[in-house]
Amino acid sequence: MGLVGYDGAKFSVPDDVEIPYIDGDGIGPDIMKAALRVFDACIKNVYDARRSVSWVRLEAGEEALSKTGSYVPDVTIDEIRRHRVAIKGPLTTPVGKGIRSINVMLRKKFDLYANIRPVRYLPGLPSPLKDPNGIDITIFRENTEDVYAGIEFASGSEAAKSLIDFMDEKLGVKIADGAGIGIKVMTEAASKRIMRSALDYALSHGKDRVTIMHKGNIMKFTEGAFMQWCYEVARETLGQRLITEQEVTEFNGGSVPSGRVLVNDRIADNMFQQVITRPRDYSVVVTPNLNGDYLSDAVAAEIGGLGVAPGANVGNEYAIFEAVHGSAPKYANKNIANPTSLILAGAMLFEHLGWTEAHGAIYGAIEKTVRAGIITQDLARELGSASVGTAEFADAVIRNLQ
Ligand code: NAP
Repeated sequence: MGLVGYDGAKFSVPDDVEIPYIDGDGIGPDIMKAALRVFDACIKNVYDARRSVSWVRLEAGEEALSKTGSYVPDVTIDEIRRHRVAIKGPLTTPVGKGIRSINVMLRKKFDLYANIRPVRYLPGLPSPLKDPNGIDITIFRENTEDVYAGIEFASGSEAAKSLIDFMDEKLGVKIADGAGIGIKVMTEAASKRIMRSALDYALSHGKDRVTIMHKGNIMKFTEGAFMQWCYEVARETLGQRLITEQEVTEFNGGSVPSGRVLVNDRIADNMFQQVITRPRDYSVVVTPNLNGDYLSDAVAAEIGGLGVAPGANVGNEYAIFEAVHGSAPKYANKNIANPTSLILAGAMLFEHLGWTEAHGAIYGAIEKTVRAGIITQDLARELGSASVGTAEFADAVIRNLQ
């Protein structure tokens, strides 16, 4: 068995690759078990004996805490580093106490600066929209900065008090005593690299529009600057291929001419209504961390909910693929949870490795399964139809890989 290699510029993937996985908490083990069966069947079906995956189990979350006293033991970090890619189930984050977030910690540790969430409607899925057909939006969320980076100081703490004094004395800004304080940081480097990722994706996947989502009208020096930096990258990267919204509407009847890429921007609040009223106008969306967190779940709701939308955290050297939903503890060990999000995250992992046939096969099999009305309870209850369990759903996907 071999490891994914990286020579400083590109990855190499052996045909018999080792990939680590983390079950996760709550429903994590249920959906991981189902997903791994689908992955193995897919690889065997698509590549016969030419390619294979050996799965390496790593511990993190509540299981690791009870066994080792640490949510993410060093060995887990070392193994992800050694393998360069991993797939994980959801991990519980205690609210208002304990570890800040294992997910945020992993993103920081491996500099996984791009959170990528493709949201594509598959016919047969329930949707709150009258017509969800054709929704195909991939969100590139900056993953390392913004208020989401967790630079926060508790109300009444020494750090918060000194910041309040500093703001008053040095900057003449009055903040109420006893305020909790969070800091919003956005840099040119981080904003530009997420835009580069979004543009690379758009160009390599034949997408003709990239939308910058921001709240720069109010937060001018963070989100406003994010927008400007993104436009700078668009101009540098696309040159003559860049087309503006004005050119598209005034001279091209609203459509993007072949070979060109429209780069436009939307203020965050408007973006939320646009993805409901005109979702087909959006293809690739690039956004700071917090906006992206909210938007990805909102758009996921349009195509069946969190149970069906996959996600990836990708950096230059490492990548971790995941279900975007949480650990939904009330469904743990009940064979109820929907494994689709994690299964599609696996499809993204295979695409990342360059195994595009496996990516296509998994999407095809999920599509066929859902179209046949074989769905888990989260979706069935919306449609008033019968449901299957986690394992039975995976069985159907495996049958549809044939
Ligand atoms: P959640 O676990 O995503 O669950 C919220 C609701 O979404 C569930 O009650 C269920 O809805 C539905 N749901 C989510 N995944 C589902 C699936 N695969 N199949 C069927 N239904 C599913 O969100 P949460 O309750 O806010 O968070 C629980 C824990 O997970 C928290 O500790 C949170 O921090 C953590 N979390 C982790 C990640 C991650 O690891 N990436 C992401 C988000 C949250 P119904 O109740 O309507 O049936």
